[in-house]
Amino acid sequence: MKKKERALLVQKTLNKLYPHPQIPLSHTSHYTLLIAVLLSAQCTDARVNEITPRLFAKAKTPEEMVKLTISQIEEIIRPCGLSNNKAKAIWNLSKQLLEKHGGKVPSTLEELEALPGVGHKTASVIMCQAFKKPAFPVDTHIHRCAKRWKLSSGKDVRQTEKDLKALFPQKDWIKLHLQIIYFAREYCPARGHKTAECPICNQLLQGL
Ligand code: SF4
Repeated sequence: MKKKERALLVQKTLNKLYPHPQIPLSHTSHYTLLIAVLLSAQCTDARVNEITPRLFAKAKTPEEMVKLTISQIEEIIRPCGLSNNKAKAIWNLSKQLLEKHGGKVPSTLEELEALPGVGHKTASVIMCQAFKKPAFPVDTHIHRCAKRWKLSSGKDVRQTEKDLKALFPQKDWIKLHLQIIYFAREYCPARGHKTAECPICNQLLQGL
């Protein structure tokens, strides 16, 4: 089976399994989404969703966030892990949003990536989920699946992003990135996957 055919089969199956994938992180604005995505680094979405109501009850705008101290932020977000770095990033990026962007989350990749604590993946998530601009954020789940489905060499996440963008229509990137994450969590763990029971590899192997 050629790569393009494998990609089509993957997409067809994902559309059946997850026809309307929702953003898993609770938020009420571009700013609260940005903070939630930042907190989700090396933390589960479920844990982030437990913590953010407490944080946003105290501060849900950059103006309110900079009135807290970094220690106060850290105290609240501690269960998310890496709390020292994340608290500093949240406070500093809130200050930067106020100083450089009028308190609003910017809508270009370059401006987002220039914010403290915001890397390429976080910036790409905001681009597509907040601003509905085409981006294909690749996390560890997507990276793993793309390699296992032989849609990418799996060299690094940048290469995987490039390969997936070339394989799938731009209009489907936002939906696909969520679908693959949901699939990876449900069926395709890093260890212990069962090929025979799998709704995707099962079909891919038959077509090889
Ligand atoms: S068999 Fe299923 S779970 Fe295993 S790599 Fe393939 S898609 Fe993932």
